[in-house]
Amino acid sequence: MTQVVDVLIIGAGHNGLVCAYYLAAAGLKVRVIERRNVVGGAAVTEEFYPGFRNSTASYTVSLLNPKIIADLELRRHGLRIVDRLVQNFLPLNDRDYLITGGGRTKAEVAKFSTRDAEQVDAYNDRMSVLAELVRATLLRAPPNVTNNGWIDAFRELVASRGLGLYVANLDMTARRDLLALFGQSAGDMLDGWFESDPIKAALGFDAIVGNYATPYAPGTAYVLLHHLFGETNGRKGVWGHAIGGMGAITQAMAKACAEKGVEITIGDGVTEVIVEKGKAVGVATEKGESLRARAVISNLNPKLLFTRLVAQDLLPEDFRERMQGYRCGSGTFRMNLALSELPKFTCLPEAGDHLTAGIIVGPSLAYYDRAYLDARATGWSKAPIVEMVISSTLDDTLAPQGRHVASLFCQHVAPELPNRMSWDDHRDEVADLMIDTVDRVAPGFKKSVLGRMALTPLDLERTFGLVGGDIMHGALALDQIFSARPVLGHADYRAPIQGLYMCGSGTHPGGGVTGAPGHNAAREVLKDFRRRRV
Ligand SMILES: Cc1cc2nc3c(=O)[nH]c(=O)nc-3n(C[C@H](O)[C@H](O)[C@H](O)COP(=O)(O)OP(=O)(O)OC[C@H]3O[C@@H](n4cnc5c(N)ncnc54)[C@H](O)[C@@H]3O)c2cc1C
Repeated sequence: MTQVVDVLIIGAGHNGLVCAYYLAAAGLKVRVIERRNVVGGAAVTEEFYPGFRNSTASYTVSLLNPKIIADLELRRHGLRIVDRLVQNFLPLNDRDYLITGGGRTKAEVAKFSTRDAEQVDAYNDRMSVLAELVRATLLRAPPNVTNNGWIDAFRELVASRGLGLYVANLDMTARRDLLALFGQSAGDMLDGWFESDPIKAALGFDAIVGNYATPYAPGTAYVLLHHLFGETNGRKGVWGHAIGGMGAITQAMAKACAEKGVEITIGDGVTEVIVEKGKAVGVATEKGESLRARAVISNLNPKLLFTRLVAQDLLPEDFRERMQGYRCGSGTFRMNLALSELPKFTCLPEAGDHLTAGIIVGPSLAYYDRAYLDARATGWSKAPIVEMVISSTLDDTLAPQGRHVASLFCQHVAPELPNRMSWDDHRDEVADLMIDTVDRVAPGFKKSVLGRMALTPLDLERTFGLVGGDIMHGALALDQIFSARPVLGHADYRAPIQGLYMCGSGTHPGGGVTGAPGHNAAREVLKDFRRRRV
């Protein structure tokens, strides 16, 4: 054992950095150990082709909590977030398209159904009420289901009274919506609201992002809501772009940490959590270091932590079994493209606001359903779902002048291929398919691709430690959210080993670049250190 600090954090993803900041700001000596040579985890900007940089994995911002932006003074540390000029653009065929956002949604929806256009405001209003409820839960630990007698249970009850009151104050419509949301599929919910396919596809896309499921699977309605609780520059539910890519967020976080004295080591992975007499006392690293601390906090997917870094005989049997069964695998295929020019969509060939949008190739819920079923059967669909964001339309720091970069966020490939096929043998074939899929609606696109990076689910696991390529650190299913994230009884960021905590997206409120798990975990650790709360 060579060095002693108060807290060691495993992983410098954005949640590890947020957690480190709050602990150091409260006076603790904090050290972060990151396996990659760059901090930020799934929120990084890297050069993927000579002269072209892009957000390697996550690529668009909305969920990052305003309190965290303010507390860490991310703007002072260089973060600038800009709005998309419109939210989504769906090229539907050679003639038709739908644009949402930028004040255009109702008029655009009316092209397909006047009845649906009249429904848009009511839908937004009712979903806003539910999004507000989720917002109210983000920066607090969920009620923890304890097994330690009535004093602990009573403490949890008292702690959750604010949330209980919040729900009790909802009107009956909102309560019914809430119940429906947890029980229903996004598909059934949207079919109840709307009759035309394009608006259902635009809204339903959020239900299958990072969620390997048909939009008609129960529980998908919650995933849709999970993508609505954010805001950009004060505008709720809106998605934007961080100038310099998502790495600009985590670089600003690292600067905030440095100001508070956090020490960050990169390029050294943790191989083991060291436990003595039932207490986590440090970590061993790939480079052979043994580091000692009063507490160890993991920013990793809990399945990665508890199945690979903690000796199995140290875990309670039931917990070990739950972690083996913790469901990961979001069905994501991610590409970064260097482009010689902007795409020209057949249905809307001129350059315009739509090129700043999340461009969704996926015209209906039935298309999403089929893509999922195809992926289950054969690994991927010949008609895949692609969202493209051309970040350089909002940010001229990413590509050489006159050139562009695009993120392709492709949903519904199998996390593990059937019939013992390996992603290593199919990466290029599927990457070609994704480019062809865009080329079909924007002829010439394929020719404009100068260079590419393709990340299969296996690559996402290898590069970022995302088990099964799961972008959320575990499915956002009803049995894996809120008090059950990552597992019932451990929603308070504490592991079943004294001195070991969790601060990553596998804890409440789950995945996305929110900073909330890191914030909440820090508060729990500080409680145990008997210091002031964050
Ligand atoms: C392809 C993709 C697209 C996404 N798109 C968006 C988006 O547009 N917007 C959005 O809000 N969210 C998006 N997400 C989700 C979001 O990026 C993640 O949920 C979030 O970044 C996870 O943050 P984290 O800090 O909890 O964990 P991570 O970012 O996963 O950080 C964990 C860190 O631990 C490190 N690590 C792993 N093993 C070890 C070890 N043994 N020792 C030391 N360090 C280790 C990793 O290298 C990593 O840096 C996307 C994710 C992916 C993968």
